[in-house]
Amino acid sequence: MSAQLISSISELRETLAKTRRDGHGIGLVPTMGALHRGHGRLIELAREQSDCVVVSIFVNPLQFNQQQDYERYPRPLAADLEFCSTSGAGVVFAPPIEEMYPHAQLAHADVARVTEHLCGKFRPGHFRGVTTVVLKLLNIVQPDRAYFGEKDAQQLAAIRRMVADLNVPVEIVPVATVREADGLALSSRNQHLSPEERRIAPAIYRALQVAERLIVNGAADPQEVRQEALATLESCPQIRVEYFEIVDPEEMQPVERIAGPVRVAVAAWLGSTRLIDNLLCAI
Ligand code: AMP
Repeated sequence: MSAQLISSISELRETLAKTRRDGHGIGLVPTMGALHRGHGRLIELAREQSDCVVVSIFVNPLQFNQQQDYERYPRPLAADLEFCSTSGAGVVFAPPIEEMYPHAQLAHADVARVTEHLCGKFRPGHFRGVTTVVLKLLNIVQPDRAYFGEKDAQQLAAIRRMVADLNVPVEIVPVATVREADGLALSSRNQHLSPEERRIAPAIYRALQVAERLIVNGAADPQEVRQEALATLESCPQIRVEYFEIVDPEEMQPVERIAGPVRVAVAAWLGSTRLIDNLLCAI
């Protein structure tokens, strides 16, 4: 069945009020579109757990700190709609920018500490944009559950903390990262990679795996782990590492010693494309 395309908040609210009256649970999958199998896994899980799945598609200007990145973000709406229909989503909410931001946004959702390190250091304002649009979407859709990928682990941690600290009545469901056969995490940004960059890109995941192996085998010094993992990238000078950090999985703070579960997180540039990835390492 085709997913119903809705672009206005009032129409979406009306449609979902009926869904709720009929006793159906609602699952929300927030996305920026250019959908791939990673998003597909979120939709699939939402379908397993909720009667009605809403996929939002909105390239949120508030979370881009570079205008050029915002402008070149892919927006293949027709293909995305088809993807949602075949994945079993009931509703696609794709609002125009004026619908989400009819006037200057003066109210924001901010999550301190969790957003301080990793991407927060290099993308000022990014997480404020993310948590603000997610809170808006949660208020608009009022889902029972909302689905987020572990691929964006810091985003997931910030959203979990926002929902907990602000008593937002929704269950946040984390979804494991979907990867290509060679380990590269699926991302809408992968399509910007040249064939040569695409060939090199899986080295980022392999460096994470090196760190994971060391940690699982008992390495306790994060600096040592970091250096050994980064050494594996020395043979790929095209990869410019922005950060490679070992943090605690809840508040995303760098750890001084590895004495419990940690997340190893990396951001790296290949040409003009920025890729992020991470692995949760249990000891
Ligand atoms: P985006 O459209 O990039 O904002 O992503 C929308 C949602 O899909 C976010 O919760 C992402 O974490 C999630 N996502 C993106 N890529 C993947 C992936 N490779 N595996 C699992 N989830 C993903």
